[in-house]
Amino acid sequence: MSTQTKERPDIAPDDTTDDDRPKFFHYVKKNKIAESAVMGTHVVALCGEVFPVTKSAKPGSPVCPDCKKVYDGLKKGD
Ligand SMILES: [Zn+2]
Repeated sequence: MSTQTKERPDIAPDDTTDDDRPKFFHYVKKNKIAESAVMGTHVVALCGEVFPVTKSAKPGSPVCPDCKKVYDGLKKGD
């Protein structure tokens, strides 16, 4: 049983990619996603990508492999 309240990252779409390339979703801290959506600030994803969050994540979209690697590592190591 895990009762930890440590903040888990959520996925946020990287809207800075070109239209002819598939858009990835990066893992970003949830409170940062909300802040970016409201304030227009840039967020730093787990992989180091920096971008503003302008849309909400849609299910079924590919997640950044680098972010996923870091995210999986966060879940295991504690
Ligand atoms: Zn990423």
